[in-house]
Amino acid sequence: MYLVAVTGGIGSGKSTVTARFAERGCPVIDADRVAREVVEPGEPALAEVAGRFGDGVIRQDGSLDRAAVAAIVFVDDEARADLERITHPRVAARMAERIADLNAEPGARPDRVVVIDHPLLVETAQAGRFDAVVVVLAPEAVRLRRLADERGMDPEDVRARIAAQATDAERRAVATHVVDNSGDLASLLAQVDRIHAELLVRSERLNAR
Ligand code: ADP
Repeated sequence: MYLVAVTGGIGSGKSTVTARFAERGCPVIDADRVAREVVEPGEPALAEVAGRFGDGVIRQDGSLDRAAVAAIVFVDDEARADLERITHPRVAARMAERIADLNAEPGARPDRVVVIDHPLLVETAQAGRFDAVVVVLAPEAVRLRRLADERGMDPEDVRARIAAQATDAERRAVATHVVDNSGDLASLLAQVDRIHAELLVRSERLNAR
């Protein structure tokens, strides 16, 4: 199994890239979804989060009030470290489970390219776990425009989120492949197809050793 992380800032085109890999036959694991699952009601991590941050972060229906937690850790580094200590090992364990499940599928090829959609790869220092890291980049102005036009997002909101995320330079530093998404969709998909072909070759080579 050849593990490929896809990362990029908000509006960079990461989901579009991941969807293309899926169209090309790659199983995809969504790191964001896994991160939400580990704090669902009934999960031990949710009880620990409530223990650390108080019942104010739990909604009436028992689910985590993510905005309330975000507001706390945004201004308190120690709180953020505590939150990460509670959630990160569980996210990593569950990702490992997903990968093991894929490995256990009948007829699964050992050189299969598996894609992890990983928005916070750099922020959570996970790049070293993957055989390849695909970083999707686009200029901030382009990202703001696409998110405003296609998702109706407020540019000021998007700017604040971009400022809180890793920088393009930090992402480039861990990239094995960089996708330039400043152009049109056809250019984006062509780049992904090229990278996919290359990853298949790398994966086969690694397995033949
Ligand atoms: P992310 O997952 O990184 O936040 P998305 O893949 O959702 O980004 O892309 C953000 C928005 O921009 C989406 O609505 C997507 O359809 C659109 N988009 C992405 N790449 C392009 C492109 N090259 N040209 C035009 N629109 C694009």
